Amino acid sequence: MRRLLMAGNWKMHLDLRGAIQLAAGLKRELADVADRDVVLFPPYPFLADVCDAAETSTLEVGAQNLHPEPQGAFTGEVSAAMLASVGCRWVIVGHSERRDLFAENDAFLNHKLRAALAAGLRPILCVGEHLAERDAGSAQAVVSAQMRACLDGFGAEDMERITLAYEPVWAIGTGRTATPQQANEMHAMIRALLAELFGAPVANATRILYGGSVKPGNAKALVAEADIDGALVGGASLKVEDFVQIVRA
Ligand code: PEP
Repeated sequence: MRRLLMAGNWKMHLDLRGAIQLAAGLKRELADVADRDVVLFPPYPFLADVCDAAETSTLEVGAQNLHPEPQGAFTGEVSAAMLASVGCRWVIVGHSERRDLFAENDAFLNHKLRAALAAGLRPILCVGEHLAERDAGSAQAVVSAQMRACLDGFGAEDMERITLAYEPVWAIGTGRTATPQQANEMHAMIRALLAELFGAPVANATRILYGGSVKPGNAKALVAEADIDGALVGGASLKVEDFVQIVRA
């Protein structure tokens, strides 16, 4: 049985005060939760403060993005080592909003994963198909191509620190969730591909999160599925009550 991981992606929301309040509220309400991992992903400017707010709790903190280079003339970008230096332990790589709005391709994401691991961060690699791809019957082909390219060159040891998140793009921020069966079917395919690429022990140990309009009302049914090991939550992670219910699902 894999330990559940519940992640809250705050995207480009809140201000410093709101971010600290949200982290403090979650710290208070989730103080007794010891059987699952909870990771918060605030915007860059709030990371250090949210790390402080989460200190002496079981909450962990990650960044929503990183740049693969360690340093240099990359105005506006943030390196893995910078994230680690403010207390981040996790980072999201390849969210569909990064892929679609900022034209990040699999080769670039492969570099980001490498940089995250080199800095000691734990990346969550997002994969997922668009609606047209699902309708065309190519969802599994799209996801497996993303995985093969993003994970190219990595070994079983690297996979100990990498988490996968299946996020069908048509379900993100739309209120339209994949059914638990639809999601689990893709998760099982992802696990089978991990077994092919890295061996069965890696496939069994790797956590695969589901993301896409996870809410208090559907979280329990999703994480009840055999191959769903947690959730990557966007909108519903911005309210203490909602995210607490999801974490406890
Ligand atoms: C996400 O940001 O990864 C996400 C799944 O968003 P939402 O829960 O709002 O669909």
